[in-house]
Amino acid sequence: MELKIIKTTEPRKRPTGPLGFGKYFTDHMFVMEYENGEWGNARIQPYQNFSLQPACSVFHYGQACFEGTKAYKNKQGEIRLFRTVDNLNRMNDSADRICIPKFDVDFVLDAIKKLILLDEDWIPTEPGTSLYLRPAMMGCEDALGVHAAKKYILFVILSPVGAYYANGLAPVKLYVEEKYVRAARGGTGHHKVVGNYAASLKAGEEAKKIGYDQVMWLDAIKHRYVEEVGAMNIFFVVDGKVLTPALLGSILPGITRRSVIQLLKDKGIPVEETEVDIEMIAQAAENGKLTEVFGTGTAAVISPVGAFRLRDKEYVVNGGEMGPIAKLMYDTLTKIQVGELPDPHGWVTRIK
Ligand SMILES: *Cc1c(COP(=O)(O)O)cnc(C)c1O
Repeated sequence: MELKIIKTTEPRKRPTGPLGFGKYFTDHMFVMEYENGEWGNARIQPYQNFSLQPACSVFHYGQACFEGTKAYKNKQGEIRLFRTVDNLNRMNDSADRICIPKFDVDFVLDAIKKLILLDEDWIPTEPGTSLYLRPAMMGCEDALGVHAAKKYILFVILSPVGAYYANGLAPVKLYVEEKYVRAARGGTGHHKVVGNYAASLKAGEEAKKIGYDQVMWLDAIKHRYVEEVGAMNIFFVVDGKVLTPALLGSILPGITRRSVIQLLKDKGIPVEETEVDIEMIAQAAENGKLTEVFGTGTAAVISPVGAFRLRDKEYVVNGGEMGPIAKLMYDTLTKIQVGELPDPHGWVTRIK
C-alpha cells in the first residue's frame, strides 16, 4: 500500500508553559480507510477535523477502540518508541473483539515513524515529558441498525505531554467501588474498547465528589477480587511479595504491567499474578503487612497509591508516600525509555 504525505502549509504555534496531558496536538496525523473489504487511502496529512454524517455508525453503536503509547526524545537527540508494536498488536486484538477488520501492523508502525519524524520538533525533551501517540479505529458506515459497519477509519494523532497527573508522582487516593463494575468476564474489559470508558465515568465522578482520585474496581460477580484502578493495572506489596491480579478475561492486559512484572523478575523481587482479595488486602493494611500499592499505565507510568477506602474505613499505605519498589520501577522503566539504562528485552525502537 502506498503512503501519501501531504505537508501542512500552516504550521501551528508550539505550546509554551506546562504541557499537561492530551491538550495539544502536532501539525500532522495519519489516516487510512477501510472500504470494499480492504484498508487503503493511507496518508499523512495536516491535523484536521473529520467530516462525518450524523448517521455514522460510531456515534450510535460505539464500534471503536484505541491505544496509547509514547515516544521519547533524549538529550542525545535520539527518538525512541517504547513497545509500540505491542500496542498495535493489542489494537488489532481489540478491533477483532468488536468486528473491526485488522490492519497490517508493520505498515502502520512505519507510517507512525514517518509521522513522528515529520513532527519531530514537537517532541518535548524536559524530564518527565514525552510524545503521546493515540492510534484509534472507528466504524463509519452511514446507516442505522446494529451490525458491524462496512467502512472504518484508522487514525493516529500525536500529543506532546507532561506528567499525567497535575501533581506528578504524588500518591493518589482510591475508592474501592462495590456498586458499579467496570467489566465482566466475556465482556470487553480485556480490550481497549471505547464503551468501557463511558461505563467507568459515573463511578469516577462519585468517588471524586467524596475526595478520592480514582476508583479501585472489583470483579463483577463477587465484588471481592481486585481488577484495576481507573485505567491502570494495580500492584500490591504484601509481606515482601508483589501481587497483581491475574488476567482472567475482564482486565486490560497492560504493557506497563507486563514490563513491571519482567523488571521485578529481573531484579529477583518475588512477584505473583493471582486473585487479589480486597478483604485480605484490608487485613494486610491493618496488620502492617501491606507496604506499597501502585498503579501502572503508559500515561502515568507508575502511580503510587497513598490510601484507599473500603466501605467506611480509609487505609493509609506507606504513610501516604511512594514506596521503594514503586520508585525502583518508575526509575528503571523511565531510564530504559530514554536510554539511560540498557534495554535488555528489546522494548525500545529507535527511529532516530
Ligand atoms: C490502557 C489501560 C491500562 C494500562 O495499559 P498500558 O498498556 O500499560 O498503558 C490499564 N487498564 C485500562 C482499563 C486501560 O485502558
